[in-house]
Amino acid sequence: MAGMNRRDFLKAATVAGLGLPLLPLARPTMAGTGGSVKPDHPVVVSSGNGEKAVKKAMELLKEGADPLDAVIAGVNLVEDDPDDISVGFGGLPNEDGVVQLDASVMHGPTHNAGAVAALEYIKNPSKVAKLVMERTDHVLLVGKGALEFALANGFKKENLLTEKARQIWLYWKGINSNIDDWFPPPLEELDEDVRKIIKRYFDVHGTINCCAVDANGDLAGVTTTSGLFFKIPGRVGDSPIIGAGLYVDNEVGAAGSTGRGEANLKNLSSFMVVEYMRMGKSPTEACLEACKRIVEHTKLPELLGDDGKPNFNVKFYAVNKKGEFGAGAIYEGGSFWVYDKHGARAVPIPGLYKKNKKRK
Ligand code: ASP
Repeated sequence: MAGMNRRDFLKAATVAGLGLPLLPLARPTMAGTGGSVKPDHPVVVSSGNGEKAVKKAMELLKEGADPLDAVIAGVNLVEDDPDDISVGFGGLPNEDGVVQLDASVMHGPTHNAGAVAALEYIKNPSKVAKLVMERTDHVLLVGKGALEFALANGFKKENLLTEKARQIWLYWKGINSNIDDWFPPPLEELDEDVRKIIKRYFDVHGTINCCAVDANGDLAGVTTTSGLFFKIPGRVGDSPIIGAGLYVDNEVGAAGSTGRGEANLKNLSSFMVVEYMRMGKSPTEACLEACKRIVEHTKLPELLGDDGKPNFNVKFYAVNKKGEFGAGAIYEGGSFWVYDKHGARAVPIPGLYKKNKKRK
């Protein structure tokens, strides 16, 4: 074994030592994309908070940028934005008041991926995820190791907890339990926009996903988030898990998700969306099929409403190699962003069900 590095060792072990045959990878059937067709224009899709992201990504794609660089530059605008409380700087913290970020990137042409989870102090986890992809032999770095990796690569440590996020967190802490010693501050003492957010957002989460196909038919995607609001410290959602919150296959398409990450972790749903597209489904049909699978697999009573349907939502966004795009959710509502040859616009998200106000 002397002189053999780890890669050589693994290769030798696979071929000889373990006696496993090296099978050729199955070629995709391409049923969903019509062979090697290319879009006649780049296409970018993103979640409902992705207006700036699709515009930036398209600007770069038109200049000939790599699709992964384009989508990362797009979501960086949202990571940097203190007013988006679900992503990057200004994202809502965990239950201890610490902002912990998750992100993943996937590059179609190389079928390479990188991710970080529970990363603190660095406002652009998507950039760190790309470096994990490019500068390491790994796919996912977490917590302290991810932070040290980012610092070693010149990222700056910053306080990510904005005053707005701190006020929202403290309010949550005060109302969260009646058996601890924390009381909430009076609502009228909070900033006006904090009060609005408390009313609107309290029970939800957020994330940005952005996927693109360039004019050559090459695909890429990124998902970045501060995760579930007030999560247990160390909780990792679907966003940094390849196949759960993001998946790209350069022969087929790209898909990503927002919503209850635990559902995607248990179903590897973004991978499933891409596989449905491979089988010939349109991006919208593929997204809705993945939602159906989640519904079928949701059996725990605490996750079901009085009507027997999930009491949470998950949304998917997808684009295929031909440049067709779509989205789908368990519960319809809201919109996603697309930028294609007709320009940038918000498109309503279809769902399996209409919103049911009586859900638990
Ligand atoms: N999917 C994200 C997570 O579970 C949160 C969200 O998109 O709302 O971390």
